[in-house]
Amino acid sequence: MKSTLLLSTFLTIASSQLLFAEQAQASDEAIFAIAIHGGAGTIDRSKMTAEKRLAYESALKQARDSGYAILAQGKSSQAAVIAAIQILENSPLFNAGKGAVYTFDGEHELDASIMNGKTLNAGAVSGVKTVKSPIALAESVMEKSVHVMLSGEGAEDFARQQGLASVENSYFDTDARYQSLLKAKKKLAEKEKELKDFQAAHKTLNNEYKYGTVGAVALDKSGTITAGTSTGGMTAKRFGRIGDAPIIGAGTYANNDSCAVSATGHGEYFIRYHVAADICARMQYQGISLEKAADVVINDVLVKAGGSGGIIAIDTAGNITMPFNSTGMYRASKSSNGDEFVGIFKDD
Ligand code: ASP
Repeated sequence: MKSTLLLSTFLTIASSQLLFAEQAQASDEAIFAIAIHGGAGTIDRSKMTAEKRLAYESALKQARDSGYAILAQGKSSQAAVIAAIQILENSPLFNAGKGAVYTFDGEHELDASIMNGKTLNAGAVSGVKTVKSPIALAESVMEKSVHVMLSGEGAEDFARQQGLASVENSYFDTDARYQSLLKAKKKLAEKEKELKDFQAAHKTLNNEYKYGTVGAVALDKSGTITAGTSTGGMTAKRFGRIGDAPIIGAGTYANNDSCAVSATGHGEYFIRYHVAADICARMQYQGISLEKAADVVINDVLVKAGGSGGIIAIDTAGNITMPFNSTGMYRASKSSNGDEFVGIFKDD
């Protein structure tokens, strides 16, 4: 009797140790991956010199790899998304943080958001002018405030309270973006003369933008996906204009039951078509793949509506898709299954 009890105790301990070892091994082998974008838009292939391409691709790789390294250490997809986006915010090449586009009045107004697919917590900021890292502020709004979105002065005040780095608005200046503003204003003036209507003139500008918003989506070893997006918006936008990037469901969405998405493109369309959440909802309710859901929304729904741009998306199985309907989208991805990619045009 005693020996049977001893044997069964031994077997229970041995099998629970085996289970523990298996679980540890499974989590060591759990897939993790990241995808990032540096904006979609009219990217002119003839102006893409080898030197320029190298500069973009190495910035994309640096951002992607720093997020990937965080995931490899077993840290959260949220930490990886923030790290990757901050590298792109600090690069003058992209329209987020330093290098953000100008409003019609010659200032910079920045938008950003982040969403965690496990908790469905989200944080967003819009129209901030002096916060060095809008994505860091979006994360603080998510974690340290009782709100989801803060705008303008209130957001700046919260950033100061949280001790986040602040800069003069001129910190975001770059000559390339200033030249784009001057070009856009010249075009606007000519079109306004021709069409006798400022709003109609503004519409003709849309497809000429090099957008350049940045974003990241990631899956960590624990199976959680996160999405984040940061942008200066659109060149020559009216002051106070808010795009899709800080709108949860439009420019950013994450849900462990479906997918995580970060968008870039003509924000007004992404808001009206609720692009990021629509992709995840199609996947969840129609039972279709991430790739199929994203393709329908970007290459069918948005194309028919006239909205140009693209998205990056990931699901909890580590599938990544990066469709766009514009001429190019700066993008990169890396997965623990060995896949990695960096490219700009469709045939890259
Ligand atoms: N979606 C951004 C906006 O409309 C622009 C971009 O993606 O570059 O503000």
